[in-house]
Amino acid sequence: MADIMHDMPHANKELGEHGRTGEFSVRIDDYDRLFTCKACRRMLSPPVYQCPFAHVTCSRCHEEVGDNRCSCCGSGNGYGRNRVVEEFLGRIRFSCRNKVHACEAFLPHHEMREHEQTCRHEPIFCPVPQCGFASRAVALTSHLTLRHHWDTIRFHYDENFRASAFTSTIFQSRDDGELFFLDSFSEGRGIALSMICIRPENAREQEFVYELKTPSTARNTSLRHGLGEKEKVFLLVPKDLPGTEDGNVEVCIRKFGHQRDSV
Ligand SMILES: [Zn+2]
Ligand SMILES: [Zn+2]
Ligand SMILES: [Zn+2]
Ligand SMILES: [Zn+2]
Repeated sequence: MADIMHDMPHANKELGEHGRTGEFSVRIDDYDRLFTCKACRRMLSPPVYQCPFAHVTCSRCHEEVGDNRCSCCGSGNGYGRNRVVEEFLGRIRFSCRNKVHACEAFLPHHEMREHEQTCRHEPIFCPVPQCGFASRAVALTSHLTLRHHWDTIRFHYDENFRASAFTSTIFQSRDDGELFFLDSFSEGRGIALSMICIRPENAREQEFVYELKTPSTARNTSLRHGLGEKEKVFLLVPKDLPGTEDGNVEVCIRKFGHQRDSV
């Protein structure tokens, strides 16, 4: 490694760009094409196999063929592990797709995919149409307040609170920081209210139940909101219902599996 470093322009033998020994910046063009299995086109990760015709293939294809032959051309002579490519793959580190959202993870390709499925820096998107702002929950709350002038209500699960159906409001759980908002739109003779949970794409599946009540108690509903649910469920409040002129509704959100602290 030291000899290679010696020949590298701008390489710092002692401290690399990230302040660690032996690190320096390189650019690899067409990495996807270069390091994909020639048989199945998936990204390679060690162990890696190769035949004399330079068909570099993955362990999954190797196991499928099963008799020490190349998955591309069937050649058995000179077929075996390619330790150089394995070594190379084992030492390349990728940045997380959430690097722009302050994730500092640097991992081999196959580990990075697992990391990204649970990366806690995964952003959530601003619910305002065409805005496109994405960030972590804390920054999204202040974005909605400052940029779109939304109100913020902090609440506890299982406790009733009042909100206005006519004012754009972000509800943030004091228990775990989850974000919700009350979507309201005209529907025939009434106003339709629907609770939306705003979560990152890689969030674990979680079910919430919420109740909406109008002050007149003439209507109330309990709706189960599960992630991945396509059907839109909503409470329809007639425009002329007494007590709803100011748009006030009583809200209670419950999180499936949430344990209330004993008082
Ligand atoms: Zn393969
Ligand atoms: Zn081959
Ligand atoms: Zn990450
Ligand atoms: Zn926005």
